[in-house]
Amino acid sequence: MEKQQLQARAIVRNIGQLVSIAQAPIVGASGSLQVYTNAAIIVDNEGAISWIGPDHEIDELLACSEQQTVNIVDAYGCVVTPGFVDSHTHLVFAGDRAEEFHLRRQGMSYGELLRQGRGILTTMNATRNASQEVLLDLAVERLASVRAHGTTTVEIKTGYGLNMEVEERCLQIINSLNCNPSLPHEHIRVVPTFLGAHSVPPEYRTQRAAYVELVVEEMLPAFAEMARFCDVYCENEAFSVEECRRILTRARDLGYQLKVHADQLNPSGGSRLAAELGAVSADHLDHASDADLDAMREAGVIATLLPGCSYTLRSPYPSARRLLDHGLTVALATDYNPGTSYSENMQMMLGLAMSAMGMSLEEALTATTINGARALALQDQIGSIEVGKRCELALWSIHDYHEIGYHFGVNLIQSILVL
Ligand SMILES: [Zn+2]
Repeated sequence: MEKQQLQARAIVRNIGQLVSIAQAPIVGASGSLQVYTNAAIIVDNEGAISWIGPDHEIDELLACSEQQTVNIVDAYGCVVTPGFVDSHTHLVFAGDRAEEFHLRRQGMSYGELLRQGRGILTTMNATRNASQEVLLDLAVERLASVRAHGTTTVEIKTGYGLNMEVEERCLQIINSLNCNPSLPHEHIRVVPTFLGAHSVPPEYRTQRAAYVELVVEEMLPAFAEMARFCDVYCENEAFSVEECRRILTRARDLGYQLKVHADQLNPSGGSRLAAELGAVSADHLDHASDADLDAMREAGVIATLLPGCSYTLRSPYPSARRLLDHGLTVALATDYNPGTSYSENMQMMLGLAMSAMGMSLEEALTATTINGARALALQDQIGSIEVGKRCELALWSIHDYHEIGYHFGVNLIQSILVL
């Protein structure tokens, strides 16, 4: 290694197993996850990975280096992976729905909960009534836990304001969370998504066309600079294929990238619409048909599975094996939300995918990192540990990555490192 190569912001060394999930082979690494033992990483002054190699070369490098102030991070022989990329959350909300969870367990239907003014209405009302400060504090607290469980990039959707004022407030909060060093959660990458078409708010119940009009003609143009993605909830209980097509087409024209909540509760036509419009991802897919999956594959739509919903609703888990056999690229995400998946823990999703959805450890690690990045169209920047990518790492308190998915129900993450 040449002396002038050490223009480093940091060196991560003494990595027992570097599970790089590299998409191009790394010299010295092996297997489908490109695992490198006794490795080190050099991170340049821009926060990009500039070198991956054997740890023993670092001593020699430091000995002959003229640079005095490189930050050395010691991984103490543990496992290092890319940070998790959680490509689907509804993390900004107020209110508490614990009671609803238990009522559902006792057999109360979601329709009955809605008739009682519960369900999403609980969250919408609490979110509308919360101040910006309260919403921000709640989100910051949740992000600290997101980080503690190993996630370094998190997508966050709006969708509990369902009017101009509160949807905008939520987008402002989401944007303020992105890599904001003044906040106690420190650096985390946050990707904002506008989900005005989450539910028809009660004041529009008898005039749903007017709400779609509001989303298309006022919200989408107003928020185009504040959100990267536009998402829709395409279900019989929410928005029809025709309504979603109108919203997403306008969003695409305005420069949004597209996502679809598709075929979760019924065969809604959402995954087919995602393929038709070139969405980046279609999420849920419990009821997608073989033809729908073929259309998604042909269009390059990422299939995002959300096992936390099946866990919460006690519904059958969608088969990841079936999607993989269809040739789809599968991502896993938490769907962190107060109603149907109250968990920010990607390790839990990975474990559920392995135990209940037919995924191998290799597939589940890929689905929670690089494929999560693909579901956010960020695969050129994050999701694997490769030269040129951002340094966004998860440091684990284990010495063999095969413990992931095996040692379950505990947090195996020691810390994350985002430079
Ligand atoms: Zn969702």
